[in-house]
Amino acid sequence: MTAPIIEIRDVTKTYDTDRPALAELTLQVAEGEAVAVLGRSGSGKSTLLNLIAGLDRPSEGTVTVAGQRVDRLTEAGAARYRRERIGMVFQFFHLLDDLTVLDNVLLPAQLAGMPAGAARTRAAELLDRLGVAGHRSAFPGRLSGGERQRVAVARALMNRPPLLLADEPTGALDSASAADVRRLLTELNAAGQTILLVTHDTALAESCAGRLVELADGRLLRDVAVAA
Ligand code: ADP
Ligand code: MG
Repeated sequence: MTAPIIEIRDVTKTYDTDRPALAELTLQVAEGEAVAVLGRSGSGKSTLLNLIAGLDRPSEGTVTVAGQRVDRLTEAGAARYRRERIGMVFQFFHLLDDLTVLDNVLLPAQLAGMPAGAARTRAAELLDRLGVAGHRSAFPGRLSGGERQRVAVARALMNRPPLLLADEPTGALDSASAADVRRLLTELNAAGQTILLVTHDTALAESCAGRLVELADGRLLRDVAVAA
């Protein structure tokens, strides 16, 4: 077996409150898996994503992603790690409204110093694959929610991250757009992309994920395979 792409070991995260946001959590994710993290509001889902993305550090325990000790990175190291290793998709897209669709998708490549020609080729390929090539010169404000989320996914994949993280990616979409994004994430995983997503959308969890992990009060309540 190859080393897991995510290895979380005995992680506790405590904020100022007495109740930890995550408590003694141990979790491994193998390359190529799609894992849905479920749990009520306040159960620790976003905290878990933030620790994996290197946006926050555990109070105790270790977070290793693709062989890298994320809990030990400096701020600059964490920014670089996110640029190179992690794609992130959010509920409300987080696109830059003053940039065109194409420029939004190009941004991570520019920050990573990818040569301009190669970046444009990659962006064109992704926009085409995600069905939004026709909107490349538009500003995000002109697009539907589903189209914006496709652009956000293209941006997240720009630097070929080994790990795609998504926090409620269908949470702000109408049912038809949510179905599009579900299909898209399922296709990406079928093509080998490792995905960890937080969702309340059971249809998304069941169609895309091969495994469900449920948190309750910062602890692992359930970790089950989804029947194919
Ligand atoms: P979820 O994403 O499952 O709704 P969170 O991970 O956001 O849950 O939050 C888990 C717990 O940690 C909650 O009790 C929340 O209030 C607390 N929490 C999260 N972030 C912070 C923070 N920055 N400061 C203090 N408490 C926080
Ligand atoms: Mg959350």
